Amino acid sequence: MSAVILDGKRRADEVKKELSEKIKGYKASVGAVPKLVALEIGKDSAFSVYVKSQGKIAEAIGMEYELISLAPSTTEKELIERISSLNKDNSVTGIILQCPLPEKFDFIKVTSFISADKDVEGINPENKGKLLLNAYRVVPPTSSAAMELIELSGVDLYGKEAVVVGHSSIVGKPLTMLLLDRFATVTVCHIATSEKGKLIEHINRADIVAVAVGKPNLIKGEWIKEGAIVVDIGINSLDGKIVGDVEFESAKTRAGYISPVPGGVGPLTTAILMRNCLSLFEEQNVTAQ
Ligand code: NAD
Repeated sequence: MSAVILDGKRRADEVKKELSEKIKGYKASVGAVPKLVALEIGKDSAFSVYVKSQGKIAEAIGMEYELISLAPSTTEKELIERISSLNKDNSVTGIILQCPLPEKFDFIKVTSFISADKDVEGINPENKGKLLLNAYRVVPPTSSAAMELIELSGVDLYGKEAVVVGHSSIVGKPLTMLLLDRFATVTVCHIATSEKGKLIEHINRADIVAVAVGKPNLIKGEWIKEGAIVVDIGINSLDGKIVGDVEFESAKTRAGYISPVPGGVGPLTTAILMRNCLSLFEEQNVTAQ
């Protein structure tokens, strides 16, 4: 058996095409396009490739994009002031804070200053709370991308055993909420699950496996239940190549559906970030009228 590939790149291209058409339409009807502003602390961070791709994609779909690089010496107070002025600026639709932030910043405190109405990443505590209450509008893009790839399988998730490995607040926890919302039965595993030697037994019985850890080949192909949906969120550099957290070649022979790395969750995440920005633009400019 060879799994159906959950092609995130192809889905991302479809999303970008839809966004581009909508943005063209809004330019004509409301005379404006969304503007995404990215804030980064220090240039040339390890994430500069990701940041560059955001700019390129925004431009390709007709969205305005501005990258503000703040000096590494920027204080928390200065960063919060910068966020507050972007909140007040009516020309700005969405704000993205390039993470991880240097350790001197209190992440929860800083993100709570991003207006919930401009929070394209769904990381402000208000938007996170809404996710818990099933009353969400912007969801962290990586977890949305993982969910969308799971749904691409077309498998009915009702009552299915889902195992999420990784419980970070930007990926694992929001994805858990999205799966619960679809009535999957969700187990969340993390470092302690592995340390107690229990990871394998959870993976063995999972109909859906979503992994966001950051450890190459953590999940062995032989652990995967026949026919399972496997979504690999991890991004790791191994021997000069980008790989995920799942042993792809062996997992592919057992899974029913599997997302590759690269070409899976990654490209779809950026497209969904843009989609979040467009939804906020619609709230600010279209539904408000
Ligand atoms: P994190 O470091 O915040 O969380 C890691 C999680 O993995 C924690 O829950 C931790 O307990 C768990 N963990 C660590 N070692 C483990 C082990 N041996 N067994 C089981 N669980 C273990 O990471 P994060 O920010 O959620 O990112 C996770 C991965 O997802 C990284 O590889 C990151 O690069 C990737 N990521 C991808 C995208 C994307 O767009 N594709 C976006 C964000 C993060």
